[in-house]
Amino acid sequence: MNEARRKAYLDAMGIEVWIRREPAPLASHAGDGAAVAARSPARTARDEPAPTTPSVEPTPPALSASVEAVPQPVPPPSVAGLDWEALQVRVSACEACSALVASRTQPVFGAGNREADWLIVGEAPGADEDRGGAPFLGRAGKLLNNMLLAAGLTREQVYLANVLKCRPPKNRDPQPEEARACGGFLERQIELVRPKLILALGRIAAQTLLQTDAGLDGLRGRVHRLEPSGTALVVSYHPADLLRSPADKRKVWDDLRLALAASETPSGIESRT
Ligand code: URA
Repeated sequence: MNEARRKAYLDAMGIEVWIRREPAPLASHAGDGAAVAARSPARTARDEPAPTTPSVEPTPPALSASVEAVPQPVPPPSVAGLDWEALQVRVSACEACSALVASRTQPVFGAGNREADWLIVGEAPGADEDRGGAPFLGRAGKLLNNMLLAAGLTREQVYLANVLKCRPPKNRDPQPEEARACGGFLERQIELVRPKLILALGRIAAQTLLQTDAGLDGLRGRVHRLEPSGTALVVSYHPADLLRSPADKRKVWDDLRLALAASETPSGIESRT
């Protein structure tokens, strides 16, 4: 992409960068986590951020995993081998998580190019997505569109999906059991798209896909491999986090450059999970 145009997209994201000519960092950075400010785990990626005063830490949601009794999901039947249409039917009919079924308007399957090079994974639908039936429709989605444009991609060129297909009540975090119950759907979407690169946005997406408890900052800055396919996976901030902490946008540009390098030369990049 023309550098002037890329700069315009970065400006639109609110990122002032001097675009360097040297290649993106390909290997992991041991000290990366130390350089990154600690982030509050209290808000979810689907909370509507305050439009102003990003330096003021928002009030945590009243409910958390420790105080909320969430009924155990009943794992849905296997979706192994299903094609897109059959998978979508299964997702639409899924009632595995009674708490989510009670609060959702509709499951949000996923959207975009089913043969995309990039598959973007978020956390779960928020209010806009629950109403509209597609991922990343709200303010965070608009910022994601600009992030993608800065990387030379349109929203229509990538595939967008979430860890959970249903909006959690009051935008609480997905419960691990819900993520497990819903996991087969995302796994099958990944198998069907066969992307060159998965971009995991936010802690929940990264931890779920990589099956780890490690924090977001420790997972950023290197290319992971998703087993068994070996698909390259890069972790970045969730756009909703960026709306609250605009200073981190500059780091997202580093993540996008790493993702671009990983998707362009996947076999040449050092991996670690
Ligand atoms: N946040 C997400 O993680 N996914 C969406 O689809 C919307 C907001």
